[in-house]
Amino acid sequence: MKLTFYGAAGTVTGSCHLLEVDGKKILLDAGLFQGGAEADKMNFNQFEFNPSEVDMLILSHAHIDHSGRIPLLVKRGFKGEIITSVPTYELCKIMLPDSAYIQESEAEWNNRKGKRAGKRVKEPLYTVRDAEASLNLFHTVEYNKIIKLDSNISIRIRDAGHILGSSIIELWVRENNEELKLVYSGDIGNKDAPIMNNPSIIEEADYVIMESTYGDRLHKNVQNKTLFLLDIITDTIERNGNVIIPSFAVERTQEILFILNMLKESKSSRIKDVPVYVDSPLAINATKIFQSFLPYMDEDAQSLIKDGDDPFDFHNLIFTHTSDESKAINSKTGSSIIISASGMCEAGRIKHHLKHNLWREESSVVFVGYQAKNTLGRRIKDGEKSVKIFGEEISIRSSVYSIEGFSDHADQKGLLEWVKAYKKKPKKIFLVHGEETALKELSSLLEEEAGISNEIAVFGQAFELSANSYRRVAVERAEINKDNLLSTLNTIKSDFSVALSNMESRLSEEDNTKLDYLLYLLEKLQVDICELKKEIS
Ligand SMILES: [Zn+2]
Repeated sequence: MKLTFYGAAGTVTGSCHLLEVDGKKILLDAGLFQGGAEADKMNFNQFEFNPSEVDMLILSHAHIDHSGRIPLLVKRGFKGEIITSVPTYELCKIMLPDSAYIQESEAEWNNRKGKRAGKRVKEPLYTVRDAEASLNLFHTVEYNKIIKLDSNISIRIRDAGHILGSSIIELWVRENNEELKLVYSGDIGNKDAPIMNNPSIIEEADYVIMESTYGDRLHKNVQNKTLFLLDIITDTIERNGNVIIPSFAVERTQEILFILNMLKESKSSRIKDVPVYVDSPLAINATKIFQSFLPYMDEDAQSLIKDGDDPFDFHNLIFTHTSDESKAINSKTGSSIIISASGMCEAGRIKHHLKHNLWREESSVVFVGYQAKNTLGRRIKDGEKSVKIFGEEISIRSSVYSIEGFSDHADQKGLLEWVKAYKKKPKKIFLVHGEETALKELSSLLEEEAGISNEIAVFGQAFELSANSYRRVAVERAEINKDNLLSTLNTIKSDFSVALSNMESRLSEEDNTKLDYLLYLLEKLQVDICELKKEIS
């Protein structure tokens, strides 16, 4: 079996791993790269394999950094089956067209700007039509059932406890008269988190591809973060300000609603009458999907709902569907709690609420989720004094809080526990889905505490895996695309001139990232040009 990493390798986003086994090509996830201009560019890069040659895709969960390049894959020729859980399919039905809509609107906005500057019109990464076409390829399977993909390959998906429908994927392969088992963790959930079950324990594997998001951090306990949120809300209301919560539409929004329901309904609650707005069409639709998948939730949530207390329905909870309803929130007097997407503030209605509240001393912005490098959310969280929103400079005078403990990811302790539960130690763990420090720290802990050999995945690196041994192999490259070469050259030209102009002063982390990316592009370009030369001569 050959395994190659094409995303979330050395980074958190863009999950995409290719398996080649028994004459078949199987993808594990096809996620968007997220976090600023560099990530956007990576999304536009050609795939390093030919999508039309991929036989199937197994999707761990609906988060866009795992599913968001599926429409592009389909646009570029993928026609295979997409195997996933029922709730993941339901969530993808709303999330992929939503992602496509964002792509279309961004392209339109850029082109309007570009046209005035005399630039060539660029097409969106993919369209709503591409997203809809990809939904036709979905094939759902149930948790805990072994499914035969062909005579030599079987899979089973297990509840990962991360978001509704999230899965850990177990894959068995018969090859050269020996059986081999690979486990792909997807994203591993947080133990004892509201709504979701604990992540499934897997006891056996030869090889594991494992996420590392919080490989270097421990979460604060649930009680503390709930009380912290309550304090923030109470203080902000006393000042007559609004509480703005940028939140991922799926899972985090529902988790916050679950907690607000609890806080509002406690006997001495001082926030009982404060209106709570869920201002994101995606979050509203996702909440409906959560309500329809009761059996997938943990016991606490199930019994609460059975006892007649629907956590997604409480006094003064308002779902704002239209953009007029959304705009009306900002002209209201008195305090409100506004939960809006996107979670990293890069798109969506949250940007309007930030524009209307960041400059107000009495308001609060509360981050309850991961903020990737180079996103608007990260800049606000990191304490910048002002930010640009819709072309306007907005000074930040509101209180800015970050409650780290809200996470649908296991922390360092949770990840180690998950690994230590293997009764048969994996021969090798490949670490993906993490920033550098998280990957490095988890890597040494796995070695020292669990005694498991591991490897931090590198983009484009391939491994040949068998029951008894593994080895690195050279990467086969997809056919060279000449348009891609030109666009890579243009990217290098424009980015390098920006980087050069910054070089006189001290290089920021962002500049460094930019330069590293340029180096990557240059290396890729060198290989591509050599290949092209060979091809032509
Ligand atoms: Zn996820």
